[in-house]
Amino acid sequence: MGEICDEVESREWYLASYASEGVPTSDHLKLRTVRLSLAADAIPDGHLALELLFVSIDPYLRSRMTGLLDGLHSDPYQLNQVITAFGIGKVVRSKNSEFEEGDIVLHPFIPVAEYCVVKSHMFKKIDPNTAISLPDFLSCLGVPGFAAWVGIEVLAEPKPGSNVFISAASGGVGMFAGQLAKLRGCRVIGSTGSDDKVKLIKEEFGYDDGFNYHKETDYDAALSRYFPNGIDVYVDNVGGKMLEAVLNHVNKFARIPLCGMISQYNKVWREREGVRNLLNMVGKEVRMEGFMVRSHLHRFGEFAAAMEGYMKQGKVKSRNKINLGIHSFLDSLASVFSSSNDGKVIIQVKPRV
Ligand code: NAP
Repeated sequence: MGEICDEVESREWYLASYASEGVPTSDHLKLRTVRLSLAADAIPDGHLALELLFVSIDPYLRSRMTGLLDGLHSDPYQLNQVITAFGIGKVVRSKNSEFEEGDIVLHPFIPVAEYCVVKSHMFKKIDPNTAISLPDFLSCLGVPGFAAWVGIEVLAEPKPGSNVFISAASGGVGMFAGQLAKLRGCRVIGSTGSDDKVKLIKEEFGYDDGFNYHKETDYDAALSRYFPNGIDVYVDNVGGKMLEAVLNHVNKFARIPLCGMISQYNKVWREREGVRNLLNMVGKEVRMEGFMVRSHLHRFGEFAAAMEGYMKQGKVKSRNKINLGIHSFLDSLASVFSSSNDGKVIIQVKPRV
């Protein structure tokens, strides 16, 4: 490990103003440089000084910028405070005997800052001998992989031959949800935001077919074509019009794990789209169920063992879009709202790890 000085300059992202609607801009999130003491006597007991290595860019971060408690996250960012995200850091000073300098650690709320001093609570060490790449701890073995697993394995439990539909199919959750459903022997169709991504989900992630929802804008007609025998499972990542269209095609006892509704995140709630045909759920006895991965943490070990096994056997592939440098945070976040990403978006903070 290179020598770390007792005092460093560190760039960090902070919330400058609330973003109630639209994609967040540099009016809302700003980068500033602070001087930080990493001298041993400046670090309180039970704390770690960390160098940030990777940051996970997740759509829910958007919902923490409104200053309100909304339907997704219970922990809004505070004005003028450094923001936090799921990330991986390297311990550069430790005031906790369970951690040593050089340890690589994961945390769900790590400051988005080049360096930070944080309480050593909830940190998980990554085995230095693991064959898994560090970014994969934020994708297939991280929140998106776990959300896909909860959606498919815990809530939907599709049978072989079930007709499964997945929206935002080429993104973090979508790529794994599709692959897990294929491993269960299902017929899997995805929607995504470009022709290249349709190709990607078929060629890389094994989807049977897919469509570009920007081109095939009559979702009802598209679903009639792709699901002549109806939909048994829909993993909803986007909500809005797509969810409404799906409800016209569900089979009896269909299951709809509601993972997220990204098409609604940039709108204040009164402007969010309603779903007019919920009535279809009654006659078809559909089970639609929202979930948050944090409520399933007791099953994380089971998930991680299964996913690691699939990866080692080449049964599940991951694709990470790595953006370089902490300055890329705002553009990286915007990319998940514009169809300009594919796979899981991750920031690598330093050019070399
Ligand atoms: P992601 O798929 O990597 O990125 C989001 C994707 O959504 C984008 O790549 C974009 O792809 C698509 N998208 C953006 N705006 C859209 C719109 N208006 N209409 C339709 N699609 C749009 O993100 P992720 O991390 O995997 O998350 C996917 C969903 O799961 C999100 O709703 C997220 O909040 C949710 N999630 C939930 C949990 C949980 O615990 N419940 C955990 C993780 C994630 P294309 O437009 O190219 O398809």
